[in-house]
Amino acid sequence: MVDDVKALGAINIDACFNCGTCTAVCPLSSGSSSFPRRMITYAQIGVKEKILESPDLWLCNYCGECTKSCPRQADPAETMMALRRYATIEYSPPGVSFISKMIYKSKAFALSFLIIFSIIPLILMLSLHGSINSTSIMLFSFFPEHYIDIIGVTLGIIIFGIMLFGLAKMYFMTRKGVTKSNTGPVRILKWIVEFFQTIFKEVLAQERLDQCEMKGWRQRLSSEWFIHMTIFWGFTGLLVTTVLGFLLPTAISVPLANGIYIPITEPIRLLGTLSGLFLIYGASMAIINRVNKSRVYSSYSYFTDWALLIFLLLAGLTGYLLEMAYYLNSPLITYALLTVHLTVVFDLFAVAPFTKFAHAFYRPLAIWLSRSHNYI
Ligand code: SF4
Ligand code: SF4
Repeated sequence: MVDDVKALGAINIDACFNCGTCTAVCPLSSGSSSFPRRMITYAQIGVKEKILESPDLWLCNYCGECTKSCPRQADPAETMMALRRYATIEYSPPGVSFISKMIYKSKAFALSFLIIFSIIPLILMLSLHGSINSTSIMLFSFFPEHYIDIIGVTLGIIIFGIMLFGLAKMYFMTRKGVTKSNTGPVRILKWIVEFFQTIFKEVLAQERLDQCEMKGWRQRLSSEWFIHMTIFWGFTGLLVTTVLGFLLPTAISVPLANGIYIPITEPIRLLGTLSGLFLIYGASMAIINRVNKSRVYSSYSYFTDWALLIFLLLAGLTGYLLEMAYYLNSPLITYALLTVHLTVVFDLFAVAPFTKFAHAFYRPLAIWLSRSHNYI
């Protein structure tokens, strides 16, 4: 197992001699939730079940404090991240876990995967597109909306199924882990209250991530917390925009199919524009941090980390270019950009279960189980 974890990024794990300094300095380690030393030991001796049953992997925020203090340069923060990649593979359904493992371990495989999943939507769009009106923009006459709906819903169901399988497997394994070490009875009311607290505090406000950050608004604007918030809210806003466009066809779909101008102040359009700005800011900042390696948590990037951030940025940028071409009334450029934009969005969702996108679901689940079972 240790070789698997090394291949997933824990390249210095052998240097650890279990001194415990990392656990002592970790701002989030406490009581029964004692990490990262314990996780490193489990990985070194190959106790796979213990790792998959523990929520500790997901309670770590990758702030890098432990790595700065390690006397052996064993990079415990990166080991925690490598173990999260390992768990993501192990929680996946059979077949998908093989693809996941190959994507993490082989750049050639990952690139081939991306190329195939870029070619599929391109072929679909080139073969299914409708009339090309070059005098006025009739977006959904060029590519009928129901095709987008069918392809989107099919892909969504597959991704949702993969994620649901992973979350169910993690839920049962982690519940076993936290039940073994819980210190009191699990009450149904606490279980429900913690669920909503986790949704509001950890998902919507990303509060736990804030604990590793420096204080003050200036620092916060470039902090990991703010970058995560802008990516999360940008992505969520665009998702809501898409769903509203689907549910309220007279607002977006009908005008786009008939070449009727949609003002930029139209509420759904405006939500999409603002959400796109958030997404572009967050993804750009995250990429800049990784390029500069300015912080511990951005000093080591895996192929999947780049893939997710680049697709998020491209989704935001192509969306904006598409909007600009639409408002500049350039039909052919608008159709070309729609093709590129939909291909990027298709790729983004295709890689989602194998990247940190999946972590965004596993982490709140781990926090909820830990709190409701008195683990933290
Ligand atoms: S990772 Fe470093 S600080 Fe942590 S136990 Fe190992 S040697 Fe000590
Ligand atoms: S990266 Fe931060 S949160 Fe994670 S184990 Fe190290 S010190 Fe703790």
